[in-house]
Amino acid sequence: MQSYDAVVIGAGHNGLACACYLARAGMTVLVVERNATIGGMTSTKELALAGYHTDVHASGYQLAALSSAADELRLAVYGLELIRPAVSLAKVFADERCLAIMARIEDTCANLAQFSKRDADTWRALFTGYLAQRDELRRELESPPASPATIEARLKREPGGVARIRFRAQSVRSWTTETFESEEMRGLMADFAAHAGFAPDDAGGAAFAFVFLSVIQDAGNRAVKGGMGRLPAALAACFTEAGGAIRTGAAVAAIRVDDGRANGVRLADGSEIATECVVSSAHPRHLVLDLLAEAALDPRITAEMERYDLGASQMGIHLALSAPATYAAGATAAQATQVHVMPTTTAGLADALCAVRAGRLPAEPPAFIVNEAAVDPGRVPEGRSSLKIILTAVPYDIDWGEARTRYASAVIERIATAHIPDLEQKIVGTAILSPVDYEADVVSALHGTVTHGAMVPYQQGAMRPTLGLGQYRGPIRGLYLCGADSHPGPGVSMMPGRNAAQVIVGDLGRG
Ligand SMILES: Cc1cc2nc3c(=O)[nH]c(=O)nc-3n(C[C@H](O)[C@H](O)[C@H](O)COP(=O)(O)OP(=O)(O)OC[C@H]3O[C@@H](n4cnc5c(N)ncnc54)[C@H](O)[C@@H]3O)c2cc1C
Repeated sequence: MQSYDAVVIGAGHNGLACACYLARAGMTVLVVERNATIGGMTSTKELALAGYHTDVHASGYQLAALSSAADELRLAVYGLELIRPAVSLAKVFADERCLAIMARIEDTCANLAQFSKRDADTWRALFTGYLAQRDELRRELESPPASPATIEARLKREPGGVARIRFRAQSVRSWTTETFESEEMRGLMADFAAHAGFAPDDAGGAAFAFVFLSVIQDAGNRAVKGGMGRLPAALAACFTEAGGAIRTGAAVAAIRVDDGRANGVRLADGSEIATECVVSSAHPRHLVLDLLAEAALDPRITAEMERYDLGASQMGIHLALSAPATYAAGATAAQATQVHVMPTTTAGLADALCAVRAGRLPAEPPAFIVNEAAVDPGRVPEGRSSLKIILTAVPYDIDWGEARTRYASAVIERIATAHIPDLEQKIVGTAILSPVDYEADVVSALHGTVTHGAMVPYQQGAMRPTLGLGQYRGPIRGLYLCGADSHPGPGVSMMPGRNAAQVIVGDLGRG
């Protein structure tokens, strides 16, 4: 039987990042991936039409701006190239105005002032505050999480700490109502909370929206040149150069446990691989309920994973276009990495998310457009263009076979009527991914979710994915977690993978 120091389950970007650090620490490492290709939720394919390369899942290289991994692993040497657009994002309104986050804070504030001079000044002050706290935030994200009690005790000792405790619990509607005067800025912040599944009145949405938008203001809403799939390709190149091996088309069916310790994996074809430790980037529900089904686990852990909150299901519509789309809001929107199209108000967003949570398709879904080809023209044939529409929340338990095309057509028609009048006549290819399709493509997109578990306050930090599994260590010895279901959570950041590697190397005395 083959044997390694570590077997990593899953070649998403976190599994690969973790594998890189373990290999660089001198360990023999094998990554096993059930799909035929690496990347997980960071992959680029020709979906809508041949010659049109689109990011199947993640497009924005955003939270990774706070990660040390790209520099430490020298990913630029392995082909990672980033594009920083002049316009990071735009939120467009029915009156054809457009609120834009620009590369420079001065330009953002000039744009915001058309809606409210006071909000422009407020955003500048908030962003200055973010810059002052950025290093502390980076340390928090790049370390195993402290317990909620430790964080609260520390904050209580700091000047302004009690206000920060309150802010961390606040909903985005509560915070934006007391902070901004324009409905446009309030709505933009609410959109950002919704990216991680927070409805306007959900606790915890304010802090997420503030950090996410601040990161974008600071580092830009960057795209990976050639497509997000170049990130796992760079990680894989770094890993194999350090001596690591990757096997695709190799689904792990079970984790072998002997005397309460993980000591190998069994693949779907029945073959077995022995290892000193198993490191999983699979969805934690799949890990506990399927891969550990034969292990004698504490029944409380199984129960926790059965009732684990999965988060919002998403839908994607990829369009190949004969020429660049013309936005009614003008060139600023057309150049932006990301354009928020609907709903335009916080109240409209709350209505839409209520409908989704009640199992209905909203007339106006929370939706944004990624201007993939405008930011990175090399992804499409010369003179052509492409758009990717992401609906950040749709119900899962409906008949998607019937709803997929009908709903996508309604969404395209709405966007065309309100914001891109020439959209429909330029479409030359379409690919629609419902939550069921996402799940079929990448098994960790369970129910079409993108986060390996909801980012609700009780599934964050040391409680992510659950209290007992919140330090990258699994429920049995020799088993570790390194995916988006561990602190600091979802998004393209490489941080869960990097943090897990620190813990593993420490536990095995390889540091
Ligand atoms: C539509 C969509 C849009 C998104 N947009 C953004 C964005 O713009 N910006 C951003 O930062 N984030 C975005 N995200 C979120 C981000 O892509 C994910 O949070 C992140 O990529 C998860 O990475 P991961 O490595 O932890 O897990 P994954 O990418 O899920 O990788 C896990 C891997 O494990 C494999 N696996 C699972 N089970 C097994 C098994 N039994 N055996 C072998 N292999 C197995 C899977 O096939 C998969 O390849 C988006 C996600 C989606 C779906």
